[in-house]
Amino acid sequence: RQAPPPSAEQDRPNFAGISISSGNRVIFDKPRLTKEGLAEYYLAAAPLMLPHLANRPLSLLRLPEGMTGERFFQKHPGKGFPDALKVQDIEDAEGAATPYAYVTDAAGIIGAVQMGTVEFHIWGARRDRLDRPDRVVFDLDPDEGLSFAATRRAALDLRDRLADLGLASWAMLSGGKGIHIIVPLRRTAGWDTVKLFSKGVAMWVAGSQPERFTAEMSKAKRKGRIFIDWLRNERGATAIAPFSVRARPGAPVACPISWDELPRIRKASAFSTRQALARGWADVVPPPPQGLTAPVIEALDRALSSG
Ligand code: ATP
Ligand code: MN
Ligand code: MN
Repeated sequence: RQAPPPSAEQDRPNFAGISISSGNRVIFDKPRLTKEGLAEYYLAAAPLMLPHLANRPLSLLRLPEGMTGERFFQKHPGKGFPDALKVQDIEDAEGAATPYAYVTDAAGIIGAVQMGTVEFHIWGARRDRLDRPDRVVFDLDPDEGLSFAATRRAALDLRDRLADLGLASWAMLSGGKGIHIIVPLRRTAGWDTVKLFSKGVAMWVAGSQPERFTAEMSKAKRKGRIFIDWLRNERGATAIAPFSVRARPGAPVACPISWDELPRIRKASAFSTRQALARGWADVVPPPPQGLTAPVIEALDRALSSG
């Protein structure tokens, strides 16, 4: 009996049913991570990611040649995307149907990796109710030169301010320079309300400590401060997904971090792919979805008017 003819397709590594081409292409050089290695990471990370990644419109940061080549954000899937990466038409501001990618399973994640994706960015709403965000994210962006200790302290302060409004939150190291603070929402309010709320919180915190914080994006206003980036909370905006690898030196991972552990963390890029998998969600328990109820809004209103 004859052996089947060797074919490139058969020799390719396969993850979740998706075959990976150019598996030994080096994506990151230090620590060395090939395209196959990245797929292996994402297959293992999929169960950690999917509860927060599945069924949301995605923006993919692709680096088909790895860290040394070009990179681009892709919001709209093009030709040649594997079927595992699903597509949903979403109306843009002008009412035109525009295709967005989403995933429901590990095969979808690996399908994106096969297309050269390194980073997965998520909308703040799920695809069954795109007009009702299910999270608010405050993206703390420290000015260059600020210590991570200052960013850490800012995150803990913002947690306390949110708690003053009656809202519980969880935190994630971005894998870059900052920390994201996330409030899970019941899907009752629309984008306008959620965006206005997040702006109100940022203005309150920045207004009461203008030497530490700014709610304005301009680099000039950021000098020596932390920008509380509330602009992630609008329709179509994205934030990095939990356990996404970052396309930054060392292949750091966006890692959920408990409030108790945060004071011991030395940088936002503290965790490698190996460490991220070993940790998983550790003892991070995102609070249940909360409503931007009248008492919450009234508490913010009082806080804003008392300075
Ligand atoms: P860092 O902690 O270093 O700030 P970050 O992921 O928070 O890392 P930001 O520059 O603050 O990076 O961006 C916040 C989010 O905004 C990103 O995670 C991404 O989802 C989105 N974003 C930023 N720049 C772009 C862009 N050019 N195209 C699409 N989305 C972007
Ligand atoms: Mn940021
Ligand atoms: Mn930002």
